Amino acid sequence: MAGIDSLRNVLELECRKGYTDKAVIGGLDKYLHKQAGQIRQSINNPQLVSGFDELNLANSHYGSYGVDERKRWMTNVLGWLDQLEKTTKSRQPSVVSSQTAAAEPRQKRKEGLDSSITVIKGITPSVANKFARLNVRELRDLLYFFPRRYVDYSRRKLISELIEGEEQTIMGKIWEARVATLGNRRGTEAIVGDETGTIRMVWFNQPYLAKSFRTNDRVVISGAVSEFKGHKVFESPEWELLKDKELIHTGRLVPVYPLTQGLYPRQVRKWTKETVDGYLWQLSDFLPSEIKTRCQLLDLPAAIAQVHYPDDLTMAERARGRLAFDELFLLQLGVLARKRDWKEGQPGNAFHIDQEVIGRFLQCLPFTLTQAQERVLQEILTDLKQAKAMSRLLQGEVGSGKTIIATLALLIAAANGYQGALMAPTEVLAEQHYTNICGYLSQVGTQEPGCEPDEGTIRRYTGFLSRPLTIALLIGSLSNNEKEMLHDKIKQGKVDIIIGTHALIQKEVEFNKLGLAVIDEQHRFGVLQRSALRQKGFNPHVLVMTATPIPRTMALTLYGDLDLSVIDELPPGRQVVKTKCLEPQYREKAYTFLHRQVSNGRQAFIICPLIEESEVLEAKAAKTEYERLSREVFPGLKLGLLHGQMPGNEKEEVMRHFRAGELDILVSTSVVEVGIDVPRASVMMVEGAERFGLSQLHQFRGRVGRDKEQGYCLLIPEKLSPEARERLRLMEKVHDGFVLAEKDLELRGPGEFFGTHQSGLPDLKLAKLTDLHSLELARQEAITLFQSDPNLKKTGHQPLRQQLSRVWVGGAEWS
Ligand code: ADP
Ligand code: MG
Repeated sequence: MAGIDSLRNVLELECRKGYTDKAVIGGLDKYLHKQAGQIRQSINNPQLVSGFDELNLANSHYGSYGVDERKRWMTNVLGWLDQLEKTTKSRQPSVVSSQTAAAEPRQKRKEGLDSSITVIKGITPSVANKFARLNVRELRDLLYFFPRRYVDYSRRKLISELIEGEEQTIMGKIWEARVATLGNRRGTEAIVGDETGTIRMVWFNQPYLAKSFRTNDRVVISGAVSEFKGHKVFESPEWELLKDKELIHTGRLVPVYPLTQGLYPRQVRKWTKETVDGYLWQLSDFLPSEIKTRCQLLDLPAAIAQVHYPDDLTMAERARGRLAFDELFLLQLGVLARKRDWKEGQPGNAFHIDQEVIGRFLQCLPFTLTQAQERVLQEILTDLKQAKAMSRLLQGEVGSGKTIIATLALLIAAANGYQGALMAPTEVLAEQHYTNICGYLSQVGTQEPGCEPDEGTIRRYTGFLSRPLTIALLIGSLSNNEKEMLHDKIKQGKVDIIIGTHALIQKEVEFNKLGLAVIDEQHRFGVLQRSALRQKGFNPHVLVMTATPIPRTMALTLYGDLDLSVIDELPPGRQVVKTKCLEPQYREKAYTFLHRQVSNGRQAFIICPLIEESEVLEAKAAKTEYERLSREVFPGLKLGLLHGQMPGNEKEEVMRHFRAGELDILVSTSVVEVGIDVPRASVMMVEGAERFGLSQLHQFRGRVGRDKEQGYCLLIPEKLSPEARERLRLMEKVHDGFVLAEKDLELRGPGEFFGTHQSGLPDLKLAKLTDLHSLELARQEAITLFQSDPNLKKTGHQPLRQQLSRVWVGGAEWS
């Protein structure tokens, strides 16, 4: 009877519209001519068929009548319809009255939250693999799989009220739906009507959709309305049949989930809904209720339900607020636990501070420490004197002179008969630390001649201590023999200061008496590596250094187990590196500029674009670029190539040449990012600049202008989108690493910024580290809770402990 109902809808609308022939697009006649056959077929009372034939709808001329004639015609047709309906009693109410029909009673499902998501109907193993790419494996993960944002389809409109260009929602009935040719492709076309009118909708390339609609189905349609040939139309709107269930795709705030190839929005919404409905009851709230009350937080199950399918934007915000609080709170608790484990372990080693050793060292340096360096040095020395292990984070702008401070601390350790280790994130950087520290040491002391040839990287200096001071470099690319020899000497306590990479925390490395561990460029290393190095000694003092400064509250949250020192002053005479973002077509100009700098005796870096997926590809691209530049652009100059795939000794070789001024231009991948120190370098040119984070670019920039001469940084993006332009503009204006780091965090989020996945920190999906107020709130609550129950032993804190061990990968001990 579908055709008949829709006929009545059209006619009634036409009456309401004052017989203006506007009820359907194209006019009533066109509609009738097309539909008459189908309507006739659907009449199952043979007596009424003849009445129908008399109406002659297949050849109607409604459009050509005057109003009175139209009214008469209408009375006729409607009269016949009444007769027909009396015999079939099939008529349904023609207006959708309630927005959402009553919810189905929720069925509690029994599978545990740690079950695979494949218990959900429709999630096949292959779909599950796709979810795995988004780190969703268990039902719990699906509950915690949060929408990125919502589309607001909650504002319901009548068809007559629709406005072109806005996202709107209507409810109505399908009058007609069919496969149609749209442009030159097949798609679906449908007419939906409510009590105020009809509107056409089209879905391109989706002819199969036509089957989903039957005439008179009640539907909700959400999307933007556009205009086509003078008529309003929904193009590829979201749709949903109203069949006594809650709306999830339309008519509400609709969640937009992060997707991956092969996952589609409608499916994902269906599955998250099913999970929330079926399994949320199993999720218990781990947050003590005092905290919830004090901070006015939603209960956890409510927050999860609302974050997926919020009642309104306020609820969505509140849900996010609760879940973000959890992330920060758990992060903070874990950090506090680490501090507890660390500080409450065995006492540390109190060092004697020999002022004479320090004085002698400082006197021989070609510069004096800045005030900030002095202050920080005192903070560190005060820690080292305690019979409690130091845990200190040293933040300082690029080039602020952290290395010298670390060297002094290492020297004190050695003076006390302990070993000191310095761990850097890359071989290039470790090698450079080694060279620089050896450089400082040889300015002060004397390198003992005649190191045995088989001693590899071991150097000895006299003049500091009553015995020679021994220093060595331990990196992965040493030969096995060299490594073994070094391992032996380290174990026997024959090396005082060991500088290296991850190689330092391999299990073969045993220290004789590790008293101080210095970790450079902390955010590259994880918490796990930090504690691995720590465990190499008997509660060694730990100094973590970073050139990616972050605001204090953020630092306290992320590194709450560390005390903070900041070098907020650059050595005198440092100039601001002039920074310019150049559109790719001006590359030639940049080359000319480089040329000029080189002929003035300066050196330059050219950084190749970042290729995140593959270091191998990145190396290859750098090689190609190096060859092109050598051949075509700078044939007369000496170029060097540096990338992460080169063996360590080759890298060292290139760096040595560059530092010695034997190379004019160093073409490199991002491996030069951290810490490289070549005073004569004056130009840093970065290709594909938009692919790097601001902090990273700032690091690059910190490589030049390190002496009195003006330094330049040229940023050349590959593609300059408006937002990339804005980001790079910041580089031109802002020279403060703190500000850039903050911006970077805001723009890229903490995951990418800190690499939280590798670092063992819990994932922050909703919390914004830049929201200092929330950070502080979560921090205070964590501290309060921790003071009252540091081991979370109270029965009420059991669920909290469980949750902590869930989010902290290899985190602190809670038992
Ligand atoms: P970063 O903090 O980025 O690790 P470095 O320790 O590499 O910085 O120092 C950068 C440069 O500044 C080095 O060449 C170092 O010798 C020099 N330097 C450090 N302290 C001072 C100072 N007080 N006065 C002048 N130059 C200094
Ligand atoms: Mg450094």
